[in-house]
Amino acid sequence: MIVDYHMHLRNDRGEIAHETAALDPFVEAARAAGVDEIGFTEHVYYFRQTRSLWTVPYHVERCVYDIESYVDAVVTAKERGLPVKLGLEVDYVPGREDETRDLLEPYPWDYLLGSIHWLDGFGIDDSPRLLDELGVEGSWRRYFEALAGAARSGLFDSLSHPDVIKIFGVRPARELVEELHEGLAGAVADTGVAVEVSTAGLHKQVGELYPDPHLLATCRARGIPATMASDAHYPDVVGRDFDRARELLRSAGYDTITVFEAREARQVPLG
Ligand SMILES: [Zn+2]
Ligand SMILES: [Zn+2]
Repeated sequence: MIVDYHMHLRNDRGEIAHETAALDPFVEAARAAGVDEIGFTEHVYYFRQTRSLWTVPYHVERCVYDIESYVDAVVTAKERGLPVKLGLEVDYVPGREDETRDLLEPYPWDYLLGSIHWLDGFGIDDSPRLLDELGVEGSWRRYFEALAGAARSGLFDSLSHPDVIKIFGVRPARELVEELHEGLAGAVADTGVAVEVSTAGLHKQVGELYPDPHLLATCRARGIPATMASDAHYPDVVGRDFDRARELLRSAGYDTITVFEAREARQVPLG
């Protein structure tokens, strides 16, 4: 089986379109790409119901949509028998775990992705950059420490683009990189949380899959499950470069992939 568990519901002009009709092109693209099941994971910060979580302008300016419309669009498609799952890409805000849990509790999620795009008011993949504020080593340490917190929070089922901190192609000495990978895998092990293999990084400055092969192999050695992701914001990106994702998973020792339903995970053979 092949799943693509990370995409954002947009119309053919790339605009936010939380309606069932907008799902159809994604489902067709998945079929054409040989992807058996897809999961929608809109950014949590687009919804006005999450307004109280945000402090940085990037988030505050975006929370204007209704989460009910999004949930209804995906649930309706599911009820029609389409191979889709209801997810959400949730920015982890350290210290606001209870509030995050309460805000998301009313909805029938199949899974929740834990993501870190902003920390302490600075962007991981956007300006003002944490990289410039703390330097290479400092920003990597801070990022991995926070991501370990996300894994242990109990809020999430999978960690998105786990080493997105490398997005600009800047990284500390290899020895520290591997130490941080091992620390993260140690924190994730035994939580039941999965890690995402994402092809999105191939199209960013770094030009690599997330995560690094060493991080994925370390996760495999710890028994941590995996998912697959394109992070598509357009239908034709669904399943993009999944031959590369499959190859990375296989080389790390994975022969199963995670399928989620109502926040229960199970392993199925990797196709
Ligand atoms: Zn993301
Ligand atoms: Zn995303």
